[in-house]
Amino acid sequence: MSFGTLTKDYRDKKLILNLVKVIKEEFSNDSYKFMHVCGTHEDTVTKHGLRNVLPKNIEVVAGPGCPVCVTHPEKIELALRLLEEKENVILTTFGDMYRVPSRYRRSFSHAKAQGFNVKIVYSISDAIKIAKENNDKEVVHFAVGFETTAPSTASTLLQNPPENFSIISAHLTVPPVLDYLLASGEIAVQGLILPGHVSTIIGSRAYEFLADKYKVPQVIAGFEPLDVIIALKMLLEQVKKGERKIENEYERVVKPYGNLRAKKLMNKVFKQEDAKWRGLGKVPNSGLDLKPEFEKFNAIIKFDINLPEITKDIEDGCRCSEVIKGLAKPEECQLFRSVCTPYDPRGPCMVSIEGTCAIAYKYGSLSLKSN
Ligand code: SF4
Repeated sequence: MSFGTLTKDYRDKKLILNLVKVIKEEFSNDSYKFMHVCGTHEDTVTKHGLRNVLPKNIEVVAGPGCPVCVTHPEKIELALRLLEEKENVILTTFGDMYRVPSRYRRSFSHAKAQGFNVKIVYSISDAIKIAKENNDKEVVHFAVGFETTAPSTASTLLQNPPENFSIISAHLTVPPVLDYLLASGEIAVQGLILPGHVSTIIGSRAYEFLADKYKVPQVIAGFEPLDVIIALKMLLEQVKKGERKIENEYERVVKPYGNLRAKKLMNKVFKQEDAKWRGLGKVPNSGLDLKPEFEKFNAIIKFDINLPEITKDIEDGCRCSEVIKGLAKPEECQLFRSVCTPYDPRGPCMVSIEGTCAIAYKYGSLSLKSN
């Protein structure tokens, strides 16, 4: 289903409301719950007030689509321990990771305030530049993100970075966590809206095993409001017809096999490993660790630092572990807005612009807007 190729077409209020009307007419008899797994989708849904125009019997919840939110505090503590125990280390991190609270609400920003050398970068290339300019220091980059950012990390490591450069890989991958969530039965959704950016890299075929295993309808969606509404209609039609397949609403960008070059780079540099997701636990084969031939860039090995074990990964009162499974809304957390704000986040979902709580804080409850 396609309505055009221009961004403005996908934000056309009239088209959106017409399609919502069709949905209301055709799917009023049952209740439906669908989950997306992308912070940008949550931004689209909330910013454009889509939940307000959809009928009450159709619920769209946010899953674990914000990589910063699900980065386990063990990885954050590891980086902090590195700063505390080793001299001459510069830690580079993306801005949305900088203030994510770890244990006892420690963060990279607190480390910076204590005098440790932490620098915010916009890309891993900036970290390489810092390493070249500071060859008397060790630069450790905190590499975070899903399949969208992992190819840049891989590409950088394949281009002979300076010897004083290494990474802590906190990269995670999306299909294994969907497998984990669907197997748990906890999320109880009738279909998934799959992430457009991640799918651009891994391709639509990467989710086929989920369709086979769980018989769950899945639609890859773009990021404009009409993309999301079309994807919802496609899911609803699958449910109605008893179909359980992968469809691609975002055909203008996502291809069946994804970005072959990016996947090749990732496969060269990374191996899959079991990884802990904050609020979810250990998810089989969902992490990306460096292959042995890239060990010299692995800060954990290079500096012989042990991964600290943290069993309590969410602080008391914070409901992020439910928020990332679509089991609680930010507004249902008693700390939301009163105690927990983007200026003083108590949980990881309130920090990143992709975090469900941060998005709810930013936009509140809005009616449908058109640009
Ligand atoms: S509002 Fe804050 S404390 Fe509550 S779930 Fe969200 S991040 Fe956690």
